[in-house]
Amino acid sequence: MLGAIEAGGTKFVCGVGTSPADFETCHIPTTLPDATLAAVFRFFHQHAAGQLEAVGIGSFGPVDLDPTSRKYGHITSTPKRHWANYDLVGTVKRTLGIPVGFDTDVNAAALGEARWGGAPGLRDFVYLTIGTGIGGGAMIGGEILHGLVHSEMGHMRIPHDMSADPFAGCCPFHRDCLEGLASAPAIRARWGIDAHDLPADHAAWPLEASYLALAVANLTLTLSPRRILLGGGVMRRSELFTLIRMEVSRILNGYIQHDEILNRLDEYIAQAQLGVRAGVLGALILAEHALHNQS
Ligand code: ZN
Repeated sequence: MLGAIEAGGTKFVCGVGTSPADFETCHIPTTLPDATLAAVFRFFHQHAAGQLEAVGIGSFGPVDLDPTSRKYGHITSTPKRHWANYDLVGTVKRTLGIPVGFDTDVNAAALGEARWGGAPGLRDFVYLTIGTGIGGGAMIGGEILHGLVHSEMGHMRIPHDMSADPFAGCCPFHRDCLEGLASAPAIRARWGIDAHDLPADHAAWPLEASYLALAVANLTLTLSPRRILLGGGVMRRSELFTLIRMEVSRILNGYIQHDEILNRLDEYIAQAQLGVRAGVLGALILAEHALHNQS
């Protein structure tokens, strides 16, 4: 039996099991660190007392993922009160005494999509989630890409034509990065209406698609993935996919001569399949990795 934690800024999603078939989950509101973790441990105790072999955590960030770092497993510089510099992995390891796997929430979601969702068997793909924030995880050669810290695809810079879209952007660090222009809070701030309340024919959607298409084109050109999965609350508007594919085709302008890009963009740019369960299911795979790495 394995434990899984998707640590989010507003809630923790926890699960126990071995696969989606036997997976039991619960939601715990994110309050102070000790109280939140106490509720997580209670859930594990009630559903898998003495049976857990490892736990995986996919966490909101930024986080320290460098195993050689003194701060490995910590949430680092979050503006969320009391969570900055919190030793998440250390706390779970000390309390449960079992191996703990750790990664960002979006990297965990990418792992989940690779095994049980929209990219089965693919060794090279990108998962991008567009919701309260924008985040992405890349799997390259069958491994999640980490590098210096971890991918921050949501903060990539994209062209912003102020005459067509005078909204200045809402990222506290960069104003008009991708997240500042295309996240759900950006849509709400620009149009004064929540994304899910905007009608299908609203001017918000072609603009949103143009920004997301720039991100998809940049990721295609940079990482050469075999698929790009788009998920998160904003992407529940399925009409966005058609607009994004048309715009990606226009931006790339025939430069990448591959059947996937020229003729099969509907498979190349696809909807993520696991929805809100992607992160916690990915955390289950992180637990599996932790168990194998130990033996
Ligand atoms: Zn930013």
